[in-house]
Amino acid sequence: MNDAHRVVIVGAGPAGIRAAETLVAAGMRPVVIDENARWGGQIYRQPPADAGFSRTKSALYGFEAKKAEAVHDAMARLLPKIDYRPDTLAWACEQNRLDTLHAGREASVPFTHLIIASGATDRVVPLPGWTLAGVYTLGGAQVALKSQGCAIGSRVVLAGTGPLLYLVAYQYVKAGARVVAVLDTSPFSRQAAAAPRMLNQPSTFAKGLYYVGWLQARRVRIERGVTLLSIDGDDAVHGIHWRTRGGETRALDCDAVGMGFGLRPETQLADLAGCRFRFDALNRCWLPERDAAGRSSVSHVYLAGDGAGIAGADAAELAGRRAALALLEDIGVAARGDARQLEHELARIAAFRAGIEQAFAPPEHGARDWPDDLTLCRCEEVSAGTMRACIRSGLATEVNRLKALTRIGMGRCQGRMCGEAAIALLAAETGKPLAEVGRLRSQAPIKPIPITPMLYDDGVQVQPEEAHDE
Ligand SMILES: Cc1cc2nc3c(=O)[nH]c(=O)nc-3n(C[C@H](O)[C@H](O)[C@H](O)COP(=O)(O)OP(=O)(O)OC[C@H]3O[C@@H](n4cnc5c(N)ncnc54)[C@H](O)[C@@H]3O)c2cc1C
Repeated sequence: MNDAHRVVIVGAGPAGIRAAETLVAAGMRPVVIDENARWGGQIYRQPPADAGFSRTKSALYGFEAKKAEAVHDAMARLLPKIDYRPDTLAWACEQNRLDTLHAGREASVPFTHLIIASGATDRVVPLPGWTLAGVYTLGGAQVALKSQGCAIGSRVVLAGTGPLLYLVAYQYVKAGARVVAVLDTSPFSRQAAAAPRMLNQPSTFAKGLYYVGWLQARRVRIERGVTLLSIDGDDAVHGIHWRTRGGETRALDCDAVGMGFGLRPETQLADLAGCRFRFDALNRCWLPERDAAGRSSVSHVYLAGDGAGIAGADAAELAGRRAALALLEDIGVAARGDARQLEHELARIAAFRAGIEQAFAPPEHGARDWPDDLTLCRCEEVSAGTMRACIRSGLATEVNRLKALTRIGMGRCQGRMCGEAAIALLAAETGKPLAEVGRLRSQAPIKPIPITPMLYDDGVQVQPEEAHDE
């Protein structure tokens, strides 16, 4: 790569791969960092090379098999032309440098321009029993199937809401797993009302309907508009309780639960890079600001894909391309690609997304009903009661203060699992909107790294603070 411009992309999912492709087509050689061992991101996740099982692309990705193949092939073609670093976690970011960890080795990766395409994780809403062994996120349940070729249990309940709920149920049943119920907290009436907006992406909408119809045809129990009451068990899951839309309490035996309430963007690197954030009502969280091209508020940092706002895999590919074009334009390198067309397509998908968020909104008033002994932060074992007491004492009216006083969000997940719950409880207790109780600030390391001495490139042990500059 031209020394004046060292471009680093974090994320080898659809957004990162298409960004790399656009840069390579313009003669650049970007560094592409991904903590996964193989490229593809979440939706096009590949099983490990030594998985010990084999499933075809069509078994793994269903209707998306062709798109998965196209993205995988695009990356395979790029390999000689990029500096690809799989199995590498970017755990900190400063103005012109990322700190990474690969196989116990620490490296500092300088950049002049950074494209963050870090994707998303499941939104978790706590309920009694959610920390029991056998409870997974929906995404985690899907990863087990895609990566390990196994189901999370032999009597599986999938619960929560969002398109992933029905997709994972379909993928599980199709793979031969036993799904004993799909419990959707979103009522059918809300989903029907959102249909006109979802028709902005008719083929995706049709696929959603197909999954539901396919499950119904196989008599998989589906209940909508439910309130999840508890996941039951001593050490591990043995059942679930919920209330129906009509107010009746029901229970079912199961040995695993996959639970999720839509997705939340992974925004920590953008935060550490100094990007300005704003509250986004659609995503119900704080997002790094970006223009239609993917430029952030920091001149040399670009944002693409679900990490900047949930929009799905097709949008991620478009946004990756668009952000790369913006970068090339900013450094004065000629590029092929129709920026306007990309923005037009992204706007159409955004209208569809609005429909999805309307149809599958997470439960609104849950936080008020959380019992005091409910664990909200499982890393630091902080209960709803502890947080309530802190808020009611008047000591915390802002989430970072709540964090300082209770340690919520200070553990391994760094608030990625519990942060939204803390904000929801704070909003419920103070009667303020979510946007007014603050944003949990990110801290490095954004994901766990060893605190023991790390290996340097030559295999010599060094202390973590002896950062290796390339
Ligand atoms: C668990 C899960 C399963 C999903 N399954 C489906 C599905 O089956 N169908 C569907 O339509 N949509 C699915 N989605 C949504 C879909 O994955 C996204 O819309 C799409 O993949 C977004 O593409 P992306 O490139 O923005 O991010 P991703 O595909 O998520 O790629 C982001 C990449 O960045 C890497 N990364 C993130 N942070 C770091 C870091 N700090 N250091 C190094 N690497 C990092 C990740 O390892 C990942 O490979 C799923 C989402 C999740 C979270």
